[in-house]
Amino acid sequence: MRYIITSVLLFLSAYCFSQTAIEKGLSVINKSEAVTYIGILASDSLQGRGAGKTGGIMAAEYIKSVFENLGIKPWRGKYFQPFTRHIGNNPNYEMRNVLGYIEGKNTWEIVMIGAHYDHLGIKANNTNDSIYNGADDNATGVSAVLQIAKAFAASEQKPERTIIFALWDGEEMGLLGSSHFVEDHSSYIPIPLVASVPVKGYINCDMIGRDKDGDGSHVDISFTDSKPVFAEWIKSDIEKYKLALAPQFPSLESTPGGSDHVPFMRKGTPVIFYNTGLHPDYHKPSDEATYINYDKVVDITKLAYLNLWNMANLISF
Ligand SMILES: [Zn+2]
Repeated sequence: MRYIITSVLLFLSAYCFSQTAIEKGLSVINKSEAVTYIGILASDSLQGRGAGKTGGIMAAEYIKSVFENLGIKPWRGKYFQPFTRHIGNNPNYEMRNVLGYIEGKNTWEIVMIGAHYDHLGIKANNTNDSIYNGADDNATGVSAVLQIAKAFAASEQKPERTIIFALWDGEEMGLLGSSHFVEDHSSYIPIPLVASVPVKGYINCDMIGRDKDGDGSHVDISFTDSKPVFAEWIKSDIEKYKLALAPQFPSLESTPGGSDHVPFMRKGTPVIFYNTGLHPDYHKPSDEATYINYDKVVDITKLAYLNLWNMANLISF
C-alpha cells in the first residue's frame, strides 16, 4: 500500500514539475474568479465607479486589496498614482490609477497590461435605474488584468522584463489616467536622468465580455501594424490552448478606438487592444454583470496572458 501511495505521489510530482512555468500560470486563470471580480466591481454598492467619486475610490481600494492578497507589489512604492483634473469653477476631480508590478531580471525594460476601472457613476436618466454598473465597460477588463497578475505570480518564474499591471482612472472623461501615466516621466522611468525609456509593449483590455450578433467566439484584436508577429502569437496560442475564440483583426492605424492604448501608441509603444464590440447596453444603466459571457472573458484573459508572457520574456521582442 505504501509503495502504491509513494508511486502515485512520485507520478504526481513528476507531472507537476513537467508543467512549464507558463502553463502553471495559465492554470490559475478561471471562471469563478472572473465572476467574483466582475460581480463586485459592477455591484450597485460600487455606485458605477465614477472617477473622483465615492464609488470610484471604493473600487480603487478593492483593486489594491486584491493586489495585496496576490502578493503583487506597489509600483514605485505606492499602489495609487494620484492626479487631478481642474474644472473651471467646479470642484477638482481627484483621481487615482492603481499600479502593481512584478520585477524582471532586466529592470530597465518594461511591458504593461492595463484596463480602466472607472465608469459613469450615478446619474438621473429616463429609466428607474440611476447606477451605471459598467460590467462589460470595464469590470471585465479589470478582471482580466487581476487574473493575469495572479497568473504571473503563480508561474513562479521571474520574467525577463519588469511587468506593470495598471488599472486606470478617468478613462471615461478622456483617457485621463493612462495619459497622465505616459506623460509623467516619473511614472515609469526606471533609470533616473534617462530622458526617455519607452514602455516596450502595452496590452489594453476594454469591454471583453459581450457577444456580437450572438457569436460567442467573436473578439476584435487590434495591434500595431509594424508588429505582425502579434497575429502569429495569437493564432498559434488559440490553437495550442484550445481557446474558443475567432478573432477579427481590425486595423489599429485606421480605427484606433478611444481607449487607454492610444496614449501609448502616441509614444511609439507597440500595443494590442482587446474588445468584443459595442452593444445595446453600452453606456447605459443596463450594462450589468448578468449579461456577461464569462467563458469568453476567461479565454480572452488567457490569450492576453500568453501575449504578455511573450512580451515579457522573448529576447527577440
Ligand atoms: Zn471602456
